[in-house]
This record gives sequence, structure tokens and C-alpha cells, in this order.
Amino acid sequence: MKTALYPGSFDPVTNGHMNIIERAARLFDRVIVCIMINSEKAPFFTLREREQMVRSATAHLQNVEVDAYEGLTAEYAKLHNCCTMVKGLRAGSDFEKEFQMAMINRKLNPALESMFLTSEHQYMYLSSSIVKELGMHGADLTDFLPESVLPDFQKKITRLRKIKEAEQ
Ligand code: ADP
Repeated sequence: MKTALYPGSFDPVTNGHMNIIERAARLFDRVIVCIMINSEKAPFFTLREREQMVRSATAHLQNVEVDAYEGLTAEYAKLHNCCTMVKGLRAGSDFEKEFQMAMINRKLNPALESMFLTSEHQYMYLSSSIVKELGMHGADLTDFLPESVLPDFQKKITRLRKIKEAEQ
């Protein structure tokens, strides 16, 4: 059984992430979407919220599992028998960082392959951070977020916008 690991912060999971997950799910027997906990980053959504969003967005995919981990992705892959780490590659921005990570991960875990799936053109410039910024300005996010994620996202963003307005 070939298991792929798709790590990220998923803060929140976007349609760009979903496109990579769906394509990976067609290529591998099993895909683990792992929310990596990075104590140096202050996420917008709690780990629980991010997990819940990824779970609801991937509920239709039988061979996709969701997990969370604090540590090195290469270690996680070893512990969970993942043969490949799948990453999405957007225009320009991702290449340098991902190439460096792939080299480091190969050193840490030589059995682990890194596989890059190029972003679909409509998601090429989509990132979790741009979605949050648009959300704070009240933009329509239906093309950017999975349907199941939209209500939770809007609820949180509305609360944050109200707090921000009250502060001004
Ligand atoms: P972001 O970079 O948006 O904060 P993550 O850290 O959660 O997102 O990214 C996890 C993985 O998903 C990375 O490999 C990243 O390159 C990929 N990814 C993120 N957004 C997209 C997108 N729109 N299209 C393709 N891949 C993407």
C-alpha cells in the first residue's frame, strides 16, 4: 500500500489545497493530510478548527486521512510509512523554498520521495494568507474555499472584524 503525506499549515484549507489533495488521492492508495504545528507561527485558526475544516472538506475522499503533528515532516513520514511527500507548486513563489525542503528531507529520510504537483491555473495565486486578507475586507470567497469550510470561516472572520472595528 502506497501512502503519501501532504503536510501544511492549512490556515485555512483552500480550493488550491483541495485540488492537490484530490489529485494525490487518485495517485496513491492512501493520503495523510497532516497539519504541521509550528510553534513559531501564530495561526489564525486553532488546530482544532483547522482539523475540523480539513476533515469536512475531505469527507468525500475515502482514502484521505487527517492528522496533526509537531515535529519534522521527515520523521512523521518514517513513523507512518509514507513513501512520498506531496507538495503543491504555485507560480514562482514556492520553488526555492520547496527545493530546499526536499533536499533536507532527503538527507533526513532517504527513503522518502518528494513529489510536486503544479497548481491548476485558477489556484496559482491562491494562498491561505490572501484568503484571510480578503475575508477581513468582506470579499466573496466562494471560488476560493471549499463549500463546507465557508460558514465556519465567515463566522470567525465576522467576529474578528467586529473586534477590529470596536478597537478603532
Ligand atoms: P500556504 O502556503 O497557502 O500558507 P500551506 O503551508 O498550508 O499553505 O501549504 C501546504 C502545501 O500546499 C504547500 O506545498 C503549498 O505549496 C501547497 N499549496 C498551498 N496553496 C496552494 C495552491 N493554491 N495551489 C497549489 N498548491 C498549494
